[in-house]
Parts: sequence; structure tokens; C-alpha cells
Amino acid sequence: MIDSFRLNGRRALITGSVRGIGLALARGLAQAGAQVVLNGRDAERAQGACALLRDEGLDADYSVFDVTDHGAVATAIDALELRLGPLDILINNAGLQHRQALQDVSADDWHRLMSTNLDGVFNVSKAVARHMITRRNGKIINIGSVQSELARRSIAPYAASKGAVRMLTRGMCADWAGLGLQINALAPGYFQTELNQALVNDPAFCEWLLQRTPAGRWGNVEELCGAAVFLASSASNFVNGQTLFVDGGLTSVV
Ligand code: NDP
Repeated sequence: MIDSFRLNGRRALITGSVRGIGLALARGLAQAGAQVVLNGRDAERAQGACALLRDEGLDADYSVFDVTDHGAVATAIDALELRLGPLDILINNAGLQHRQALQDVSADDWHRLMSTNLDGVFNVSKAVARHMITRRNGKIINIGSVQSELARRSIAPYAASKGAVRMLTRGMCADWAGLGLQINALAPGYFQTELNQALVNDPAFCEWLLQRTPAGRWGNVEELCGAAVFLASSASNFVNGQTLFVDGGLTSVV
């Protein structure tokens, strides 16, 4: 590996990383040399995921907090920096889906989704960036989606949240690039995780997806790691405010 892609000596916090894409990204960053800090809302699940990575010989720790809780996030980040040392990399990955026709979505479900997918990115980024800014150094990667660019029937709140994540990424770039931070978004296509279980179980959707995706298949979560390592490493030091789609070509082709 070219040296500028190595993450040795760096510490990375990945929110929502006890399973799925977050866990895969944590594993990828750890394999590139980083110490990774896993996160979720459940201590047992976080501990289990951490043990899994340690069993693979990787340098992993964990911190339990809910990204929707502004105060709890700030306390957890300050405690992490004291306990482990500086956070060099943040991946805002925690997110959820809600599938329902927009006219039937309750206000509670709307706010639950927005507070995780959008407020969560603000809460954790603000808490981490305040430390990064004092050091004039840091990488933030926000997990978007093909829905950062394209809407789809029955997931309008999700698309609104992921579109906002793309613009928040640009906003962070506007405010923080001059302070030494690089902030980019990574936008996955379709990957088989718990979040997508309803789609995985739907043969008509699977058939549509294979035909609609130029690569003709679902993504494997490991295939997000190269882009994440790039955006987390010094190889991307002049890349800022961008959204990198890893989607088998889906957003490039009608
Ligand atoms: P999963 O549902 O498999 O995992 C979600 C993770 O987020 C879990 O670790 C969960 O842990 C954690 N989480 C949920 N809410 C919170 C919260 N409030 N605070 C802290 N952690 C939380 O999802 P995926 O891996 O599929 O998705 C991860 C990200 O990737 C999301 O942002 C999603 O929108 C995005 N994405 C996914 C795609 C896919 O194809 N799967 C495509 C495009 C984007 P716990 O429940 O223990 O708290």
C-alpha cells in the first residue's frame, strides 16, 4: 500500500458500528493501521463487536452513546479524548430507514429518522470537530446514500435526510476546511444489511436492482473500505466537501 493511504497512529470513531456497514468500515480502517472506536446504543452489542475485531488482531475499543442526544454525545467525546487520546477520524455512519408512503408518515417517525440521520451527524461532528479544530487536523466522513441524489417511492424522509447530509458535508467544508479539516461524504448504493432486510427479502426488488445497477449486483460491504480509507488518509488531503458514490454505477446511468 502507498504510505499516504496508511492509517497507523490514527484513531477513528465510527458511529453505529456494531454491525452492517459501520462494522465493515471499522474493520477496514483497522486493517489499514488505525485504532478504531466502535459505537452503538447497546453496551453488550458494542462490546461483542469490539471483541470480534480484537479476535482478528485489530486495535479496537468502543464507546456507547446515542447520536441523537446532543449533551450525551459531547460528554462521551470529551471522555474518549481523555481516555484514549485525540480522535483523528470520524465516520458518521449511524442511520436508520423508515419505509412508508409519505402521506402516512407520523410526525414521531419523521423526527425519529431526522434526529438519527441528520441531527446525529451534527451532534457528533460538532463535538469531535471542536477538538480537531484546536489541533488544525482531522478527517470527517459522512455516510450518505444514493438517496443523497435520487428519491425513491416510500422513503421520502430518508431521502430528505441523506440529501441534507450531502449539503451538511459541504457546509462543514465551508466552515472547517480553512481550519485544517477535510470533510467528505461516502454514498453507498445497495448493500445487504439489516437496514435493507425488507428489500433483500423482496424478489421483485432484487430483480429490479440487478437490472437497474450497471454492475448488475448488490454491493459487498467490504467494497466500501477502499473509499473510506482513502477519505480517512492523507492521500485525500486536498479533497474536501465531495460526495463519493460507491454504487456500482447506479447514480451515473438512467
Ligand atoms: P444497520 O441497521 O445494519 O446498522 C445501523 C447501525 O447504527 C447499528 O450499529 C446501530 O446500532 C446503530 N445506530 C442506530 N441508531 C443509532 C443511534 N441513535 N445512536 C448510535 N448508534 C445507532 O444499517 P447499515 O449498516 O445498513 O447502514 C449504515 C449507514 O449506511 C446508515 O447511515 C445508512 O443510511 C447508510 N446506507 C446504507 C445502505 C445499505 O445498502 N445498507 C445504502 C446507503 C446508505 P444499535 O442499534 O446497537 O444502536
